[in-house]
Amino acid sequence: MVACKDKNDLDPGVRWRRVVEYTGGEWLSMPDGTYAQDVFSYYISVSCNHCSEPICVEVCPTTAMNRDEHGIVSIDPAKCMGCRYCEWACPYSAPQYQAGSGRMSKCDFCRDELKAGKAPACVAACPTRALIFGEFDELQQDSVGQMTFAPLPDPELTAPSAFFKPHKMSKPLNSSAGYIANPEETKDAKSLEPGYVYTDGSVCGGKCVVCAGCPFWNSGLADLLHLKFQILVALCLVLAGLAAAMSHLGNPGDSLHAAKNLKSSWLSREIFSVNIFAGFLAVMVALAQIRPGALNVWVLLVGSLAGGAVLSAMTRVYRLRTVPAWNHAGTSLTFLGSALLLGGLVCTLVLKILTLLTEVGHDVMGQNEFRNVALIAVLAGFILKMLAAGLKPSGANAAGPFKALQPVMQGAGVALWLVNILAGVNPVFQSLLLFLAAGCLVSGEIIHRIQFYSSYQRVGL
Ligand code: SF4
Ligand code: SF4
Repeated sequence: MVACKDKNDLDPGVRWRRVVEYTGGEWLSMPDGTYAQDVFSYYISVSCNHCSEPICVEVCPTTAMNRDEHGIVSIDPAKCMGCRYCEWACPYSAPQYQAGSGRMSKCDFCRDELKAGKAPACVAACPTRALIFGEFDELQQDSVGQMTFAPLPDPELTAPSAFFKPHKMSKPLNSSAGYIANPEETKDAKSLEPGYVYTDGSVCGGKCVVCAGCPFWNSGLADLLHLKFQILVALCLVLAGLAAAMSHLGNPGDSLHAAKNLKSSWLSREIFSVNIFAGFLAVMVALAQIRPGALNVWVLLVGSLAGGAVLSAMTRVYRLRTVPAWNHAGTSLTFLGSALLLGGLVCTLVLKILTLLTEVGHDVMGQNEFRNVALIAVLAGFILKMLAAGLKPSGANAAGPFKALQPVMQGAGVALWLVNILAGVNPVFQSLLLFLAAGCLVSGEIIHRIQFYSSYQRVGL
């Protein structure tokens, strides 16, 4: 570990190689009244395994992460925009963020030493020859052991190019008999924080997909001024989401590379589709201004499809095979539900504000019909989110008293909304009820986002 840090001049806290202590056991009361113990403890020295199916390469949007012809997986710092998505995905915690440069870093197998005919620094420094390196096939023949013991992740996830000799006390794969005794030395406690904020920004952007979608579906019910404002608001939300996402990158300037890995990275596809969608919205705003007749149902339909593509890519970004807490149908349903719920809400608020400010929405454009369609979207979103909660693996559910807070808040929001419509109360009270319902729905959504990110639990180290 020290040899690696020294050779590569790593920042404090950045550890390309880590030694994990896995420990467990307890005192046992025996039938004869005596006590015995089954305490165990063993160490695993781990770094990047230069996997042959490297998920880091697969998900990296900029192609900064790559695998060369010798099987060495490394980062091209010039292309890394510091999004930290590879850090989320790698089950060995191999990519490590360098706060100073705002870029990811990782073991490159001491490529320069290998070229000079020497061993990697960690291998050369190990006093007990616990670490060896060589051609994969030769090591496989001498097979010193598979990586199939706790707390390592299932090797089938990434096909690591490494072998371990299991300790005689080692526990089987996926065993929960022990725990990592030295998390301060092996885990980056803040690893999710920037990603949290980053993705929150992009999720905000994604929610507006349906903010834009609703007016498209309802275009027959909306006059031009209403439609123009709905599209304008959707565009502003998408741009705000993009700006929030960009501001949390380690190197926003390098986000120009972000759409380079459309072949395999859902993050790349998401960024690409969001930009296309934003461009399309901007064109529609311009058309509404200079050639309103061109805003026909087909143009609106293409806009809706572009929005749907963003939503689909966004959902897939979270469904990483190394994050079982997110990799299930419930995540897709939740995203769709949130989009419908917030989309219907934003569209209704835009209509309400326009109505309060101008005469728009009274007679001309079928306000009731539009409002009813938006309400159906909100209800459908709420129901989908409730269904999604039942699809989560048990470990992914939020714990404690906050578990019920999101459905309660959003249920209250929907109830207030229904009262507002069904009670036929006076306009001022109706507006108050609507804004109160909006407050409940948005608060529930924020709570849900926090719970969602808190449930992040990657397999492995
Ligand atoms: S260990 Fe992680 S960073 Fe290294 S190649 Fe495998 S997936 Fe990529
Ligand atoms: S661009 Fe993102 S995913 Fe790619 S290496 Fe850099 S931090 Fe990792």
